[in-house]
Amino acid sequence: MNESLYTISKSSFLKFEQCEKAFFLNKYRPELRDKLSMEKQLTFSRGHEVGKLAQFLFPGGVDVSEETSNLKAAEALTRQLIEERYPVIYEATFVYNQTLVMVDILVHTEQGYEAYEVKSSLKISPVYIKDACLQYYVLSNVLKESLRFFLVCLNDSYVLNGKLDVKQLFKKRDVTKTAIGNLSYFETQLDHALKSLKRTEVPEKALGAHCLSPYTCDFYGYCWHGILRNDKPGIFILSRAGKERLMDWFSNGIHLLEDLPDDVIGDKNLIRQKNAILSGKEIINQAALRKLLGHVNHSVCALDIEVYAPAIPVYQGKRPFEATPFLLTCVSGNHTHHYFKPYVEEDLTAFAEALIHFTKAYEYVLVFDASLENKVIEELKSKTPYTTELTLLQTKLTDLNLVQQDMNYYNPSFLSGTGLKTIAQALFPPLEFARLKIQDGLQAMHAYGTLSKEGDLFSQEETKQQLIDYCANDSNVTLQFFYYLKDKL
Ligand code: SF4
Repeated sequence: MNESLYTISKSSFLKFEQCEKAFFLNKYRPELRDKLSMEKQLTFSRGHEVGKLAQFLFPGGVDVSEETSNLKAAEALTRQLIEERYPVIYEATFVYNQTLVMVDILVHTEQGYEAYEVKSSLKISPVYIKDACLQYYVLSNVLKESLRFFLVCLNDSYVLNGKLDVKQLFKKRDVTKTAIGNLSYFETQLDHALKSLKRTEVPEKALGAHCLSPYTCDFYGYCWHGILRNDKPGIFILSRAGKERLMDWFSNGIHLLEDLPDDVIGDKNLIRQKNAILSGKEIINQAALRKLLGHVNHSVCALDIEVYAPAIPVYQGKRPFEATPFLLTCVSGNHTHHYFKPYVEEDLTAFAEALIHFTKAYEYVLVFDASLENKVIEELKSKTPYTTELTLLQTKLTDLNLVQQDMNYYNPSFLSGTGLKTIAQALFPPLEFARLKIQDGLQAMHAYGTLSKEGDLFSQEETKQQLIDYCANDSNVTLQFFYYLKDKL
């Protein structure tokens, strides 16, 4: 729906709360917004899916957004349904004080109205509460009956057991009292926001921590352009310093790495990282690397596991967002083995058998960040008859990510990155992830989820191959990184 017909929407108000300049640009210069990241797109589509499911909490309603894509018509239809005392409305559309809100679920009861805002997360954040309070402000001024407002999120203690129980899957929190207590705040803030839009020039706003909090601003690329793309390395390369310290240095006028004094940095590893970047020389702590990798002989393979953690559980015994392994690749020499769990399959025995089979011939199994692999193996131990074999496998795991801890190894081309993508880009360009259709774990999860929907076999096979290519690339980079480090010893 085209929200620009109205002065302020819920999302634009939240921008105003974050930064007046972002709010102004959003209204008058939307073309300057950063390209929507894949991560945000996937979060939106997850939110949509969860929102649709939540409608079953109150079935039989009219979905205003499905009746019309025109906001004026949506508002008129909502008004009509309210006049008819229609019991359940989805995406009920209201405007008050030039502010537009669309309520996920609006229920008419004998006691008055109940409004529900659905979030596809496990926790209720302060931004969600603000969002609910703004909606309450509009609704309480439009509806002439008593009103209660609820935030609905996923219930982290729900476990899928048999058929999906929508009532148990969601939990709700009544935020009516908070919303009533903040009515005057929203009245005042909306007044400020409306005045701000009468300005003829973009409001001045210094760059700072607000650009990243509570969310990375949509105009981040635009506002930070000159600073992020300076020829000389900037302080933000030291991302391990944490957002707060970086913003603090930045606000004090320190933008370039070369202007950041060691005594201001304090932390010895950050100082070493700074010096490596400025001198272009890699950091190699021979003693530490020898301790980590000296004993690892050439009987090695590299393992990577991909997991699927849907917001709405699809496998028995799983909670919302609980991970299930679906793919493993094991690379050694010129051999690549994989096991792919069919989407509909719940049994993990075959997965455990493949994992044991592919790795048993090797003395060492290289992984990059062993926490996920260990978690998966622990689950397999509890759900399959292979506890002994899997315990042995755990003793073989060698975590290459540990070499990055304490800067035991650091290459200046890594800049602020620490993952396999960064390592491939810097050290093994032929293995660069950019050439792959799937480039990160989130995309992999989404692609796996689409296997439940893709009808034709050809597209299913294509997606499956893309997932295998991505996972095998992770294993390959891990193995190449091992050889690269071994050469340094
Ligand atoms: S990047 Fe920062 S200063 Fe620029 S609009 Fe966004 S929040 Fe405001």
